[in-house]
Amino acid sequence: QAYDTKNSVSATNPTENVVLSQGSIINLDQGDPTIFESYWRKMGDKCTTEISGTDCMSYFSDAGNLCWFLEPQLSDTIKRLHRTVGNAVTEDRYVLVGTGSTQLFQAALYALSSPSGNESISVVCAAPYYSSYKEETEFLQSGLYKWAGDAYAFDKDGPYIEVVTSPNNPDGAIREAVVNREEGKLIHDLAYYWPQYTSITRPADYDIMLFTFSKSTGHAGSRIGWALVKDKVVARKMTKFIEVSSIGVSKESQLRAAKILGVLIENCQHLGTADSDNFFEYSQGLLTKRWEKLRDVVKNSQIFSLPKYPQKWCSFTGKYTESRPGFAWLKCKADIDFEILLRSHKILTRGGERFGVGRQYVRISLLSQEEAFNLFLERLSAIKGQGIISE
Ligand code: PMP
Repeated sequence: QAYDTKNSVSATNPTENVVLSQGSIINLDQGDPTIFESYWRKMGDKCTTEISGTDCMSYFSDAGNLCWFLEPQLSDTIKRLHRTVGNAVTEDRYVLVGTGSTQLFQAALYALSSPSGNESISVVCAAPYYSSYKEETEFLQSGLYKWAGDAYAFDKDGPYIEVVTSPNNPDGAIREAVVNREEGKLIHDLAYYWPQYTSITRPADYDIMLFTFSKSTGHAGSRIGWALVKDKVVARKMTKFIEVSSIGVSKESQLRAAKILGVLIENCQHLGTADSDNFFEYSQGLLTKRWEKLRDVVKNSQIFSLPKYPQKWCSFTGKYTESRPGFAWLKCKADIDFEILLRSHKILTRGGERFGVGRQYVRISLLSQEEAFNLFLERLSAIKGQGIISE
């Protein structure tokens, strides 16, 4: 079914400023993090980066460093950020920057596969998995690696790469590796391991950890991601991949990211005070409200269900909280194509099959602007069981 996205309330193009009407299509397919705009608007000029005509001209940022295109200011700020939040170990790690963590994921696949191997290495992730892993792994039909799907179903001997996404996209679950064999190499995608989404229970301490500016602060358009890598050879190979694919990463973006993350860190000092400007506290509040509203609608429906999240102690906020993921992983009790059902109500989502599971699941972004979210809830509450469930 073709849809005219010109008239959609896009999570992907908020600047279009489409006036919402009852007939608008709401696009909650991508996880475009525009929900966080209101916080950065409050910061006014504090985050403005001025770049003159002579700035950022050289290819090089730090010629003596393994990752020679990483701005030292960004590297320092990333380490300070992890120390402040307590979500990852940075000691004795190489910090690498990428054009989004998307590029770093591909760099990691390259670095972990062996060019001399006579068989391509299998890449697995427990289902439901982030749909882009499959797409990115298969896209170039590389001879180095191949997508092997759900890690739970993986039973091939030999080396493999397992991607562990925690908290998971699409369902928000806290995860560990599932294959656990000696020849396995792990990539930990920690894009959502930030206090607005989940409790920070300990500093993550894995061989390859991926983070992104997109989901930490909401600045997806800057295309900045970073990796913390333990092994020097792997770090070197990942750097080489980025060198060959884009000769580094935009310096303007890196400097802007460093500036914004610097302001975020500074504002973390005021956690829990009446005049707190703490980004994580503020955005946790936004997501908590959305989850409460969504759970109310789901509770009153006879046909939908959501995952439940346990309460966990968060070392950053000093409180017990349950996760508030950036996506709702909604299940329909009826045996139907849920994505198509929602599309007929002018709500665009991503169906379960893209994540390696059934059509009765959809992933819905909760990171859109307020107006789109409210209209989504209105439409969801209007969908009744009659005619969908045959009893
Ligand atoms: N990993 C996960 C789990 C994600 O959800 C996303 C963004 N949707 C990415 C990686 C890619 O992030 P980036 O914008 O940094 O490329």
